[in-house]
Order: sequence, then C-alpha cells, then structure tokens
Amino acid sequence: MTRDEFLRWATRFPDALMLVSGTGKIKACNAPLLTLLSRSEDVLLGRSLFDFTQSSADTVRASLRLWSASGQMVYGPAAFGVDATVKFRCEGAVVSPRDGSAPATLIVRLKRHEAAVERFVTLNGTIEKLSKEVHARRRSEELIRLQREWLHVTLSSIGDAVIAADIDGKVEFMNHAAEQLTGWQIDQARGQLMSDVFVIFNEFTGGVVENPVERVLRDGKIVALANHTVLRAKTGIEYPIEDSAAPIRDSEGTLIGVVLVFHDVSEKKKAHAALRESERRFRLWTELNVIATGVSDLVGTFLEANDALLTLLGYTREELEQGRVSWRELSPPEYRGRDDDAIAEARQRGACQPYEKEYIHKDGHRVPIIIGYALFSDPKRYQHQKSDELAICFVVNISERKRAEELLEKRVEERTSRLQVALGDLQAFSYTISHDLRAPLRSMQGYSQLLLEDYSASLSEEAREFLKKIVRSGEHLDTLIHDVLTYTRVSAVEQRAQRIDLNQLFTEMIERYPNFTAPDVRIEIAPNLPAVMGNEALLTQCFSNLIGNGIKFVAPGTNPEITLSGERRGTRVRVWVQDNGIGIHKADAARIFGIFERIHTSRQYEGTGIGLSIVRRAVERMGGEVGVESQPGSGSRFWIELPQAE
Ligand code: ADP
Repeated sequence: MTRDEFLRWATRFPDALMLVSGTGKIKACNAPLLTLLSRSEDVLLGRSLFDFTQSSADTVRASLRLWSASGQMVYGPAAFGVDATVKFRCEGAVVSPRDGSAPATLIVRLKRHEAAVERFVTLNGTIEKLSKEVHARRRSEELIRLQREWLHVTLSSIGDAVIAADIDGKVEFMNHAAEQLTGWQIDQARGQLMSDVFVIFNEFTGGVVENPVERVLRDGKIVALANHTVLRAKTGIEYPIEDSAAPIRDSEGTLIGVVLVFHDVSEKKKAHAALRESERRFRLWTELNVIATGVSDLVGTFLEANDALLTLLGYTREELEQGRVSWRELSPPEYRGRDDDAIAEARQRGACQPYEKEYIHKDGHRVPIIIGYALFSDPKRYQHQKSDELAICFVVNISERKRAEELLEKRVEERTSRLQVALGDLQAFSYTISHDLRAPLRSMQGYSQLLLEDYSASLSEEAREFLKKIVRSGEHLDTLIHDVLTYTRVSAVEQRAQRIDLNQLFTEMIERYPNFTAPDVRIEIAPNLPAVMGNEALLTQCFSNLIGNGIKFVAPGTNPEITLSGERRGTRVRVWVQDNGIGIHKADAARIFGIFERIHTSRQYEGTGIGLSIVRRAVERMGGEVGVESQPGSGSRFWIELPQAE
C-alpha cells in the first residue's frame, strides 16, 4: 500500500492508524493518530517506531514480526508513546507482504494503553467472577450430592425406622428398619399411600389412630405419636411403637412432604414393666416392715426409712422428712472406726459384709443391731442429701438374740461351775476309793506273802497254791486301781500344749522304762520326726501304753520289734507305732479303745483293758485322733494324729 492509498483509506476510520515499513519506519499517519499524539506529521514521518517506545528492541522486533505474519489485526507485545508517560498498545497487520523487490508494509493501530488495560482488567474480572461462579456452582452441586449420599446412608443405617412421603402422602423413601417393621419393601411401597403402608391403632381400644402424616400435611407442624400406639405390619405382626412426624419444606418454606420416624418399643416396654414390677416388690418388702430398711447418705443422714427402722430408732416420719435422723449421731463413738471400714469396703466391693454395732435409741438406750448396706450413686435425689453416694441398708434388731446369748452364757457358766464341782468331787471320790482300796489290798498281799514265806512248811501244797492265787489277784487288783487312777488323772490334768520334739521324747521315754530296754526287745525310732503340739506328760502316757502293748501282744517265742515313725498330713502329723505282734481283727479294731474292752483273756495276756482308753482320752484332750490298722498275725500299726508344731 502506498502512502496515498493509505491516506485515502485511513480517513474513513476514527481509529489512530499509521503505515509503517516491516522494519518499523513510519511512512504515513492519519488525522486521528496525529490528534491522539498531539504531534504534526513532519515530526513523525521517516522516524522509526524504535524511537517511540519504552519497550526493549527485542520486544519491538517481536511485534513487527508478529504483524508481518498476520493478515488480521493482532496486538504486539510492545507499547509505544511520544513521551514516557503516555503509552499505547498497538495492533497491527501486514497490508503488502514482502515480495522480494519491496519490503513489507504494515498498518498499525494505536490504542490508549490505560483504556486497553482497563478493559482488559474489567474483562479479566468478569472472567474470574464467572469462573468463580462456575466453581462455586460445581462445589455446591458436589456438596448436595455428598449430602444426599450422606443422608441416604444415615437414614438407611440408623436404628430408627424412617419413611418419607410426598405432599400427597405417598411413600417416597423408607429405610431398612422401616421395611422390617412395616413388612413392605421400598420398591412395592413407593407411590403407595402412607396410611396403607403405616397402619396404626390404639393398643387398648383397638381403634384406628389418625395417621400422623395426614396431620402434618394438614397442620404443617411436628407431631408426636400418641402413647400406646401399635403398628400392624403387612405380615400381620404387631409392634408397639413410638414415633414422630415432621414436615419437609423447601428453601422457600413450602411444605413438600413429611418424614416419619418411629421405632419398636417392645423391649423398652418389657424392661419398664420388669422395672415397675421389681420396684413394686421392693416397696412391698419395705412396707412389710419385717426388716428395718432405709436409705442414707454417707455423711450421716437417713433420707428414707420404713416404719420398722423408725420404730427401732424411736423417731417419727416427720423428723425423718426434716432430715433430723442422723445415723452418725445415733452411732456410739466406739463404732466410728468400724463404720468407716465398712463404708470403705462397700466403696470397693459395692456392698459391705453385715456387721454388728449399736444405735442409740431416741430415749437413750442402746439397741444392738446387725447392719448391711450396698452403695449407689444418685446425686440430688433427696432434699437433705449431703453426698452423691447413697447407701441402701437393712438393719436387724438383735436385742432379743443378745439377751438370749447372755442368758445362755450365764447358764453355761453356771453349769460349767456345777460340773467342775461335780468333777472335783468325782476325782476326790476316785482317789479316796483307790487309796482306801489299796490299803486293805496291801495288807492282804503282805499277810499272804508272810504265810508263804514263814509258814510254808506247815501248809499243804494246795494251801500254798491258793495263797499264790491270792497274791496274783492282789497284784492284778493293784494294777487295775493304778490304771483307773491314771485314767482319772488324764481327764483332770491341766492340758497345756507345747512344741514336742518326738525324737527326744521317745529316746528319754525308752531309757526310763526298764521293760523297753529288755534284751529281747528292739525299738527303732525313725530319724527327724516332725515336731507336734501336745502335752509332754500325756504324750508319754500314750506312747508308753502303745509301746507296752506292742511288746506284750506278741506270739509266744517272738521277740518284740517296735518301729516309731511319723509323717506330715496337711497341718497335722501322724505318728505310727508299729509292732510285729499277734494283730487284731478288723471287727475288734474300734472297740478296743473303749474302757475295760479286751480281746484276750487275762490268762492269755495280762491286762486291765484300760490302757487304750487312756490313750484315746489323752489324745482327744490334745485335739488329736487315734486309730489302728491291723490284721491278725501280721502285727499292728497304731497311730496318733496331732497338730503339727510351727
Ligand atoms: P490291756 O493291754 O490292759 O489289755 P488295752 O486297753 O491296752 O488293755 O488293750 C485292749 C485290748 O486291745 C487288749 O486286751 C488287746 O486284746 C488288744 N490290743 C491292744 N494292743 C494290741 C496290740 N499291739 N496287738 C494286739 N492286740 C492289742
């Protein structure tokens, strides 16, 4: 395009235009451009765009390259201006491309930079706003989707049954719990009338109850279901239910449906009934007043008491209700520690072991009682309550029992002392008898002996035999008297238990008894016998009797062999006295411990039948037991069991 062509063409436009060469030289300018720049054409003609820019040369070159390649007006990156303050953005396009002979010619349009920027900023702002709106819309759509999902999951998984109906009262949604209770599946129920799906009636009258959905649709308010409502499921099964229905409104507040929430209360009803029954029984029991019961706090006040408890304490119901009956004050000070211990125990275990104490009756006398209580927590239940923890207690008046005990004790004491007197008399009597019997016996024996020794020659053989029999009978009677005396002494001796070393006891005992050390007798003592608790004198008596029997009851020609051994049995020690004697039949084993009980005649084996009864009496006095294991011909194993020494 030539300069003239340009000027003809450019006058038709209000835009500021100039014709420049491909290298940026200004070839022509139209009038709006000169006005815009406030410059005359001669100032501009022949000059280069590079002279009117603050942009770098590279940027200007980039603009020129861009325009040279574009048939349509496009903005270049460089800005131009006649001075530094006024900047113009330029768009350009090629009008005659470079054809080898002539360089390219460009048309450049100048636009005020500020205006462009402003428009750009406005446009950018609009775009940003729009994108924000789009973003927000997307977010809220996502949020709504999530909320729907959350609502669906929540409604499906909650324990309560939920049914939603539309404005026409037709089912739109029901969760799993609702399906189970109504017996309807959502696919069948959807679109059905709520009154067909949710069929309810009164538990007692059997009359139809107004469907809450209809009420909500009519009144637009939340409705709670009347008590004792029963739901009849499609299957015919009936459930007692509790429910409520609420309106669903859109964002403008218009009623668009109803949501019904309900649940099966069979279990709750059963639990309530059981609780009521247990409360009724408890009341009955309390009011029966067979036993005194009450509730107190742990600080000291009785908060509840039945008549039996009030009577026991001597207070009126008014005084109780005024908080004036204090178990602390009614407890004598010496029971304070015991009470505190029981409270500590109850805190640990829930209840305390019943224990004995006393209450001071209002009239001042002491009432012995047994009390037991369990703790529970019920803050602020009673007006005068001073601790959160409360105790429910029972109190048994044991005055009668105490009186009876005292009476019994007195009687026992009296009887014991009477018995002691009688026993003393008996002992004195047996001693006297024994001594008085012994004196004439001795003289009988003495004179018989005298006759045998000094008058033997003048006596016939038969007379001598008779005399010998008299002497032997006298000796037997003497042994008998001795044994009876021993038996009495064993009963009377003061029994003081002490630790007994059996090895020592046996060794000393054997040394003391001549017939235990006879040459044909063998007594073996096991080493390290466990120590026992017993009385030395009584034990010596017992074991000497058992060893003596072991030596005595052997078959003719047998040398006696005795073994003494022992073993621990729990907290006791069993001491064995084993012999190689003639043995005892099982049938006789129990009876031989009775007084005067003998299996053998005096002709076979000497004896009085008192020895083993002395053993049994002595062992029993030491808190032990005695027995025997034996078989005829195989020896006997007598045993004595006594408490083990520590
Ligand atoms: P005694 O020895 O004076 O006869 P005991 O009371 O000691 O009286 O014994 C009662 C009876 O038990 C004896 O007469 C005897 O028949 C039987 N007996 C006691 N110990 C033994 C024993 N070790 N072996 C066999 N029999 C015995």
